[in-house]
Amino acid sequence: MNELLKSLGISEVNHAAHDGAEWIETPGGDELVSYNPTTGEKLATIVQANEETYEKLLERAQAGFAKWRSMPAPARGEVVRQMGNALREHKEALGKLVSLEMGKIATEGEGEVQEMIDIADFAVGLSRQLYGLTMQSERPGHRMYEQWHPLGVIGIVTAFNFPVAVWAWNSMLAGVCGDAMIWKPSSKTPLCAIATQKIIEPVVKEHGIEGVFSMIIGRGSAIGEKLISDRRVPLISATGSCRMGRRIGEVVAKRLARTLLELGGNNGIIVMDDADPELVLRAVLFGAVGTAGQRCTSTRRLFIHEKVHDQIVERLVKAYGSVTIGDPLDPSTLMGPLIDDGAVKDYQDALAQVTEEGGEILCGGSPVEGPGSFVQPTIVKAHRDMKIVREETFAPILYIFQVSSFEEALEIHNSVDQGLSSAVFTNNLLTAERWLSPAGSDCGIANVNIGTSGAEIGGAFGGEKDTGGGREAGSDSWKVYMRRQTVTINYTDDLPLAQGVSFDID
Ligand code: NAD
Repeated sequence: MNELLKSLGISEVNHAAHDGAEWIETPGGDELVSYNPTTGEKLATIVQANEETYEKLLERAQAGFAKWRSMPAPARGEVVRQMGNALREHKEALGKLVSLEMGKIATEGEGEVQEMIDIADFAVGLSRQLYGLTMQSERPGHRMYEQWHPLGVIGIVTAFNFPVAVWAWNSMLAGVCGDAMIWKPSSKTPLCAIATQKIIEPVVKEHGIEGVFSMIIGRGSAIGEKLISDRRVPLISATGSCRMGRRIGEVVAKRLARTLLELGGNNGIIVMDDADPELVLRAVLFGAVGTAGQRCTSTRRLFIHEKVHDQIVERLVKAYGSVTIGDPLDPSTLMGPLIDDGAVKDYQDALAQVTEEGGEILCGGSPVEGPGSFVQPTIVKAHRDMKIVREETFAPILYIFQVSSFEEALEIHNSVDQGLSSAVFTNNLLTAERWLSPAGSDCGIANVNIGTSGAEIGGAFGGEKDTGGGREAGSDSWKVYMRRQTVTINYTDDLPLAQGVSFDID
């Protein structure tokens, strides 16, 4: 078996449910095999969880929550600090596993683990800053304030493309907020989840907080559905496709619980005639080709001003020709494989539709012969009536539109259903400010002279419209993991009512 897997505690056959400290024996479900997308070879097998195992895990999570919620938040922060340190120690190995199982290149794999460490650091500071407001009461001798309490056992559903960072974005914050959590990772990247649990296990054991950081692997349609319909779970934080988000949104809304939805994007960059072409080229290349186009924030649409259109397109096509495609763990590789052959088929189907709808493939356009799920990064000359440009195809396909003004670009940019990340490249202050004004970009993330992908954890991350409206990571995103309580204290011998209402008995 692969030495890297062994070093991270992964066996030939693995269990699917972990309460933070130990595995639940006989998980009871079907076998799931994890494959290496670079070679198509089997990495390891997982015995998935059945509903009975889910019940056991949920009971442990409830017991874990009952203790954890009463621990002072800065003490919870200390636990998270130690988890961040455990991740620091395993950064290289876990990063490599992300590359091995998901296919992103080594620097991106390690970058993903760095993001986990960063959010752990952020959460440690936050553990002393879960501030509430105080209000001026209208009644004499009364004091009003808001306090924030832990919410409960929350569900975290994650996508394959950030197989470990999205768990950390949620769990490090939810952890200091006092929640217990059950993580359901993507069935396409189960080993990354198992390795993460193994890394935090010593910290969980040392603090006796079993049940707080739990994980379960099972089908979305079985264990996933069980989790989202469970009335004991007051928040479902789910990252994935818009289709999945619609289903989760509906099920959770029916039981009047909370969702944090981080769904698909269709991210665009507008390039004006006064933009710095060097910045544009680097940003577009990283945004569209990085992670083989499998980031929620990948650049999928490029609107180029007609005055610079031809020169930018020519340089981009040339740059695409020198992208090295291959083993993501080889340091000279810039683009690894897609996650599986299903993703290669989605890429081919999208390009067939491009041709049907009158788009022109300027470079790329085919899968790469040989083992593994490799495709060529592709540039398409597109027009606004094409339906395929309105969809998120999770592959390195970039649609280019020639535009004659900022207004035209903005109008097409905002016309799609998704609203995650967006950028303008310009050296004109007025254009930049229009882009950022209420009538500008309609996305959750709007950048100037920076591409669409590669967000920092300090800001609130998420998108509008079909992207789901959720916010994770920095700023005040922590509030979704807590319940707000408004408190009024009367320190007089009287009982005045608000709004001057009188209700006295003679
Ligand atoms: P996916 O929707 O196929 O699966 C995501 C997760 O949802 C998986 O864990 C899956 O098992 C689970 N799931 C599916 N149906 C479920 C159900 N009925 N109940 C409970 N869980 C269910 O997505 P994917 O292919 O893994 O990831 C790619 C998608 O994720 C893209 O659309 C991408 O844009 C999006 N994404 C968004 C963000 C963001 O922050 N906005 C970040 C990463 C990925």
